[in-house]
Amino acid sequence: MSELELRQAIIDQCRAMNASGLNQGTSGNISVRHGGRMLITPSAIPYAGMTPEMIVSMPIEGDASKWEGPKKPSVEWPFHLDILRARPEIGAVVHTHSTFATILAIARKPIPACHYMIAAFGGHDVRVCDYARYGSKELSENVIKALEERSACLIANHGMIATGPSLDKAMWAAVELETIARQYYHSLLIGGPVILSEEEIAGVLQGFASYGLQEKRS
Ligand SMILES: [Zn+2]
Repeated sequence: MSELELRQAIIDQCRAMNASGLNQGTSGNISVRHGGRMLITPSAIPYAGMTPEMIVSMPIEGDASKWEGPKKPSVEWPFHLDILRARPEIGAVVHTHSTFATILAIARKPIPACHYMIAAFGGHDVRVCDYARYGSKELSENVIKALEERSACLIANHGMIATGPSLDKAMWAAVELETIARQYYHSLLIGGPVILSEEEIAGVLQGFASYGLQEKRS
């Protein structure tokens, strides 16, 4: 995909996540790795009026203040950049304040193995990272920790992050995470879920590995 196509794909996915109800307003943001640079949505621009040249380009290594574009990057750029720096296998990061993931993040409830699809995020749970102010270095550090051996996490009193090797896969993961969050929330209302064992989740991970759903991690 050319850089222009990638910039347009970011805008298309931003519009799709608002149309589907996954995100509201301009609170969500998306970044994609392109060579040695990160392409990221600009700050506070409604998706309807966003054009490819407004997507901000930032070096992944080196001086982040050397970003390029007519608009400032999303205020959440630090954790996008730090995830791409820390995790070379990740090609795209989707961040939203989607309702059910955020409800659990507000209650600081990690998502346990209430459904076998939890394994799509790398293990038997999806953690909630500790609270820190949006856009801060401390939040970046908390997010990186919660993402250890995982491809997604909830952010305390804030929202969620889903990642993937490509933009399409990261967006798929964001939709899947919100779905499990919604299912887990509702299961709590009818007496609570039965949690799958570590062995059962290990079996699912093996199955995913052979079908290619779970990206191999080194
Ligand atoms: Zn946010």
